[in-house]
Amino acid sequence: MQNDNPYFSPSDQDVFGRTPNQRAASRQQRSRQAQPAGQRSRSARQRPHQRATSGPSQGHARAAQATGNGFVASRGVQRTHAGTGYRPASAPRRRQPSMVPQGRSSNDRSKGMLVLVAVIAVAAVVGIFAWTNRSVEITLNGARTSLKVGTGLEQVIGEKKVSCKAGNFVSVSGSVIDQGGGTAYTATVDGRELSSDDAGRFRVGGGESIDISDGADVTEDYSSTTTETQPKLEMDGSYGAIAYVSQWGEAGQDEVRTGNVSGQTATVNVRPVKNCIIKLHNVTPTNGQKVVALTFDDGPSAYTEKYLSILKEHGAVATFFNLGQSVDEYPDQAKAIVDAGCQLCSHTYSHDDLPKDSADKVYSEVTGAFSSITKATGITTTAIRPPYGDFKQSTWLSTKGAMTVSVLWNMDSEDWRMPGADKIVSNATSGIQNGYIILMHDGGGKRDQDVEALPTLIDTLKGQGYTFVTISDLMKSDDTIPEEVASCDQTMPDGAVWPTELAT
Ligand SMILES: [Zn+2]
Repeated sequence: MQNDNPYFSPSDQDVFGRTPNQRAASRQQRSRQAQPAGQRSRSARQRPHQRATSGPSQGHARAAQATGNGFVASRGVQRTHAGTGYRPASAPRRRQPSMVPQGRSSNDRSKGMLVLVAVIAVAAVVGIFAWTNRSVEITLNGARTSLKVGTGLEQVIGEKKVSCKAGNFVSVSGSVIDQGGGTAYTATVDGRELSSDDAGRFRVGGGESIDISDGADVTEDYSSTTTETQPKLEMDGSYGAIAYVSQWGEAGQDEVRTGNVSGQTATVNVRPVKNCIIKLHNVTPTNGQKVVALTFDDGPSAYTEKYLSILKEHGAVATFFNLGQSVDEYPDQAKAIVDAGCQLCSHTYSHDDLPKDSADKVYSEVTGAFSSITKATGITTTAIRPPYGDFKQSTWLSTKGAMTVSVLWNMDSEDWRMPGADKIVSNATSGIQNGYIILMHDGGGKRDQDVEALPTLIDTLKGQGYTFVTISDLMKSDDTIPEEVASCDQTMPDGAVWPTELAT
């Protein structure tokens, strides 16, 4: 062993005759032998993973405790602790002092920011408080006044001493159940009346025009049953060559209400009944025209085309009231009437005296002829000339709304008597007035006198300044007759109800 101790010389021997180096080697050996056997054996018994991970041995730990520097001490550390004053560099506490001046500077800035934020917050709160408590102007019941913004209507009434009386809580029949139990007031803002809920939520914003008046009555809740009232047939006027549906019937509705609080009942008309009205009317042209209408019944027949030729030659049109059964027999003549620019209406199917028929027969006579006409010509009509001019109020009931116009006449040529052509002309033209309807026939027998009379008749009236027009155009010349009625093809509107009894 090399001697590297400068204080000993190889000649310094102890009592055993050993040199200092020999003594030192002996101390090291004893020192190793003096290490506790138990400790060595505990260390030897450690499981491999403990050995691998446990770091310094307990022996080193004890040495570290002795230095006060934690467990990281090593044999080298023990040595330097004793002699060199070396300190481990890993203790975190040693860094702390250098942090202190920095922290103090940051705190100062934070405090400054906090103060600024606080000032802004206070300013904002003050501003918001001032804004939400500002005074605004409104018009209250016509007078300008100022109020705190956000004021509710009840406060407005209280602060401004608005006089308004509460409504009552009333029964279905209108008697007072609770005086003042209705709404407290009625509020209108800028012309719009507020509901109770809206009035409760309303807050003054400024600039509004508010009107506050007495409260409304509130009616008790009720249960109800509904009843319908059927329309009746009503006649308007006592005489006229034309009769037409001037108002369609509509069922009325009544509600019988039973109050949940009062037990009282009240009948309330929810929808008024509308009677069906038949207007009797003589056409009076209002458009300045001088017009008459020639009409021919009981066709079509073998004579019809001859009539159409004469009308064309003499610059006239006419209206033909055809029987359904004759249209079925002479469909081409029926079509020729329409093609000639004349009007084709119904004279019922088989020329029944309708008031003597059953209701069902009346209905089939009316609708049967309409069907025949449509089938032969493609046109629709709901106008009828009743056979024999016999049509009563009750007959209208049986038509069930299938017809809309009944056309009679003002002048009867009495051609059916076969009085001779001159007499026919005389009967048809003497005393005629503007808007009159002339009755003749183109079927039902021999019509040679009519064929002979017709040119003279037309020329006579044209000479008096009359124009021959169809029934529809005659009706259109009178502005008291609705356009849809004058068309003679109106049908019962949806929702209309045809009456089953006459109005009394
Ligand atoms: Zn007839």
